[in-house]
Amino acid sequence: MREVLVAYPHNPASLEPAYVSAEDIRFVAESARAQLFPHLRTPKIEVGALMARCRKLRVNRVPLAIEWACVSALTDDAGEPAFGETSFDPASPSTLSLALDPEAGGDREDVLRSTAAHELGHAIFDGPSWIKASSNGERRHRSTAHQVADWSEWRANEFMGAFLAPRALLHREMVKHAAQCGAPLVAGPSARDLPVLKGVLGLPMVRQELSSALSERFGLSASFIDTRLRKYGLIQSAR
Ligand SMILES: [Zn+2]
Repeated sequence: MREVLVAYPHNPASLEPAYVSAEDIRFVAESARAQLFPHLRTPKIEVGALMARCRKLRVNRVPLAIEWACVSALTDDAGEPAFGETSFDPASPSTLSLALDPEAGGDREDVLRSTAAHELGHAIFDGPSWIKASSNGERRHRSTAHQVADWSEWRANEFMGAFLAPRALLHREMVKHAAQCGAPLVAGPSARDLPVLKGVLGLPMVRQELSSALSERFGLSASFIDTRLRKYGLIQSAR
């Protein structure tokens, strides 16, 4: 089993992440993706393949074993249905358990894929400090539909986005499919860059066709793809 090596700025005593930028997180996510799937033929990551391949991590030199499980009726502390959970039991001090509940997401493959990547983000960015602090007792994290926004969630979501739809790959696919859908492109911010999508007003049908083509290619929802296109600056900003 291949060990996935990643590193990011962190506090050496607590192993908690230091301030990490979206750029830092993208670098970690793209590096993990490249190590796990070096010969991927399509942009889509299969959840089964992720669970099979991603079993050993070394994060900032800390070895972590990952145990994936599909479960049912996962709930959060308030008793609400949860899509996924990353948890740590001090009895197994270097193992993180990542549980996914396919039914909570209505058995939608794109939701399961997003949840798996989100939980992996928690394992990478929260796991080392949980292990370090294990003397304080069990730490647990769950992902539900009603998350309170905090740094941990922000990091897990940025990781998810960049892991499942890396910028360069999404950009290439966007340009290819824009040509097929007739979606207008304009010059990118730098001359070396590929073109970006022209501002959206007036072309909802074309945008819809492009979103659904990219959704299909990446196995993600149209709103997931739209969010990534905007965050990466691949849609011309309104003037
Ligand atoms: Zn979460």
